[in-house]
Amino acid sequence: MTEAVLSGKARQHAREALRRLVLETGGDRCLSCGACVVGCPVADWSEERLDPRRLVRLIQNGLGDLIVEMDWIWQCTECGRCNALCPAGVDLAALIGRARGLVPRDRSPGQIQKTADLHRTVSNNMGIGVDDWLETVEWMGDELREDIPDLEVPVERQGAEYFATINSKLPMYYPADLQDIFKIFHAAGVDWTLPEKWWEGTNYAMFTDDEATWEETLRRQAAKVEQLGCRKVAYTECGHGYYATMAGYAKFGIEIRFEVIHVVALYALWIREGRLRLDSSRHTGRVTLHDPCNAVRKASMAGFASIAEDARFVLSHVCEDFVEMTPNRDANYCCSGGGGALIAGFKKARTHYGKVKVDQIDRTGADLVCTPCVNCYDALDNLARDYKRPWRPVHLWKLLADAIVTG
Ligand code: SF4
Ligand code: SF4
Ligand code: SF4
Repeated sequence: MTEAVLSGKARQHAREALRRLVLETGGDRCLSCGACVVGCPVADWSEERLDPRRLVRLIQNGLGDLIVEMDWIWQCTECGRCNALCPAGVDLAALIGRARGLVPRDRSPGQIQKTADLHRTVSNNMGIGVDDWLETVEWMGDELREDIPDLEVPVERQGAEYFATINSKLPMYYPADLQDIFKIFHAAGVDWTLPEKWWEGTNYAMFTDDEATWEETLRRQAAKVEQLGCRKVAYTECGHGYYATMAGYAKFGIEIRFEVIHVVALYALWIREGRLRLDSSRHTGRVTLHDPCNAVRKASMAGFASIAEDARFVLSHVCEDFVEMTPNRDANYCCSGGGGALIAGFKKARTHYGKVKVDQIDRTGADLVCTPCVNCYDALDNLARDYKRPWRPVHLWKLLADAIVTG
């Protein structure tokens, strides 16, 4: 940021709050080894020349207020790669998250906070009203019924087993993707429902460390699940939405009377149970997999179910030429759009540090980069266009829906 964002009192508060937090997050154990710097795609890139190790040092030296004013904290993708590599167990992502939270709400860059605010006030972060949502669901269902005449798309079904969440980018920008999701639930023959509100499958308040909004949106969604009497939430293909939900329940002590299962784990379960008949020969091109950090590395580190192996299991049933990118699973690099970077407005930075991802993908020779995360999908799509690459991202739901044998 070019101008000061903190007043005198806020500056003092930021210094003290971060100095306290650096102790709580293990920063006093920092060995200055630099493993976090080596592992971070964003380290040292910006004019501010910040990296995770310097971040710890600055805070320890009582200069945390300077960090709060740096663009770098928003260019960090909150991918957790530094945390995973740190031999001293320093929680660097928590420090960066808190530094963001100390920025006045109206000074967070781009659309991140506005997105979180819409989520709280309208129940989804694109501001889609109930009528528009229901109309889109009906429209997509009607079209799909031309191929699947007995298709049902339940809304507000009381007592359904699964409450499905949806990333609001779908009804807003990619409505046809809803048909892939409807097709999978229908083919699996499970009892499911969409709610009319609080179906949002993302949570940007985590990225601005806006704890009040983060907690309120989770509590309102949990109340909706319980009002409908659903026993399980099928969490949609969104890495950070899944992580923010699981981490938020723990952080805010939200007690739930249902289970949250990432939908990729459900795809795998439904294949194992023989619910889905699949033809893997329908995808002839080479496919690789981008592991979303939030649903893989960060989930594993926090003790939540990772989707890494289930995603590979599903891919082994829906395509014939799968190749791993390297590194992968918990060691994977971010797509470049994490931590809200995609909507924070630092496009030049994002494109620059996304090159590590581009190189990873290029080495596979893949035509399609499967990623079970809407945010990763958009970031990878941007990278493919910016670097003029022939490969394209694809959601797992698309590969799965296309491979389903009906009739
Ligand atoms: S969370 Fe990721 S981008 Fe941010 S400092 Fe750590 S490794 Fe770098
Ligand atoms: S990896 Fe951990 S111990 Fe090493 S410099 Fe980074 S924060 Fe310090
Ligand atoms: S956008 Fe995707 S790859 Fe990037 S940090 Fe988020 S989950 Fe990870």
